Amino acid sequence: MTVAFDVIVIGGGLSGLMAGLTAAERGLSTLVLDRNPGVGGKYCYTSMGAAALTNTGMGLDRFHGRDIRFVTDALSAFDAPVLRGWFEEHGVQLADAEYYGLVCPPSGGDAVGALVEALESTGAELRTECVVTGVERVDGGFRVQAGEPLQAKSVVLAAGGANLPQLGGGDDGYRIAVSLGHQCEPAYAAHAGVTVAETWPTTLPGLWMDVELSLTVGCKPLRDARAIGSMLFTQSGLTGEAVFNISRYIGPNLDGGPELHVNFHPGMEFDDVAQWLHRVFGERTREPSDRAIDFMLPASLGSILLAHQKVKPGARVMQLHERQRQGLLTEMVDTRLRATGTLGMRAAESCSGGVQVREVDPRTMQSKLVPGLYVVGRLLDICADWGGFEQHFSLASGRLAGLSVLQ
Ligand SMILES: Cc1cc2nc3c(=O)[nH]c(=O)nc-3n(C[C@H](O)[C@H](O)[C@H](O)COP(=O)(O)OP(=O)(O)OC[C@H]3O[C@@H](n4cnc5c(N)ncnc54)[C@H](O)[C@@H]3O)c2cc1C
Repeated sequence: MTVAFDVIVIGGGLSGLMAGLTAAERGLSTLVLDRNPGVGGKYCYTSMGAAALTNTGMGLDRFHGRDIRFVTDALSAFDAPVLRGWFEEHGVQLADAEYYGLVCPPSGGDAVGALVEALESTGAELRTECVVTGVERVDGGFRVQAGEPLQAKSVVLAAGGANLPQLGGGDDGYRIAVSLGHQCEPAYAAHAGVTVAETWPTTLPGLWMDVELSLTVGCKPLRDARAIGSMLFTQSGLTGEAVFNISRYIGPNLDGGPELHVNFHPGMEFDDVAQWLHRVFGERTREPSDRAIDFMLPASLGSILLAHQKVKPGARVMQLHERQRQGLLTEMVDTRLRATGTLGMRAAESCSGGVQVREVDPRTMQSKLVPGLYVVGRLLDICADWGGFEQHFSLASGRLAGLSVLQ
């Protein structure tokens, strides 16, 4: 067959751009294809104006999935100092944000611009608005259907996850991987808001506080499903860092009736909160209980938790029955909410599931089933916490594939 390119990269998100430019730096003729008019993929839509590329708390404990060790090689070869150094060399200074450990460029556009510039400086070709509909193995390489048939010795599959289908996400990557013989774990929304059956949380829109979350399914605690961080009440559900980090467990467990446990005093033991409540109430026996509780919880939330204990508005602390105090204490450290779902793939910032990592060599990102095929980024069955961890892995896995392809 006539080989037009050494490498075709399918997807021009962080992972695809990094894979493409790294392969091209090694002198390989490289073509990067993306279905969207612009490149950068999901990273272009990152929220809060802080497009993190890594996190000061980077570590294996921030990754989740069937085989977390899978990420080790990619992350050691392209760790946080190397990542920072790469962007600095390409004119983008990353800075530590004041919150969540985010490490960000001045703007997301700067980071994508640096990747595109680096790609173009190698002579690699970038084609946008080019949808890949299929990949076939042919003698000694691959035929890539992208309007016209294209040929390459090697293919890097960097088509991202199924979330945000309206912005170029979708199941193309999984479909192509499956057509070549790979298995994919089902995709569920992750880094997403969570909906609950109870209506009272929707009456507190805008309330933002730190919480500790855990999940039980059929009354059994779900191992690993724990998160500490911010939670924001909204009219449509709960959101925020802690909610995002627990959301990946909701979809796969929906049939079991998952229950969200909220500790409004993260990091504090039950006994410590009990003593605190005892002291606060002890010092304010004549005060209305909804004013006294204000010392421990936002007033709007405190009033609701008191109402759950059937405490009448304005009732003084000394009028509270012991049963009501105990009930209030339990709710402060273990409010239970019936999770009914997430805000869905169209709103999710990421997703779980993807190409099974046991079918991919973590030292190179090459498929163990299809020689010459590389799988990188969010398309793999790897999940990470919200806050730049997935973005770092996308870059690192792309880097590793670019260094390994046709080696
Ligand atoms: C709002 C938002 C906030 C986020 N916040 C965080 C965060 O705080 N921390 C974190 O770690 N992660 C976060 N993420 C997720 C993170 O951005 C992604 O995991 C990461 O960018 C994935 O990179 P990728 O290159 O693997 O895939 P993508 O960015 O999804 O890129 C895949 C590319 O492939 C292209 N493509 C797909 N199908 C085809 C096809 N058939 N033909 C041609 N091209 C195709 C797409 O157009 C896309 O450009 C966030 C995402 C969003 C949307």
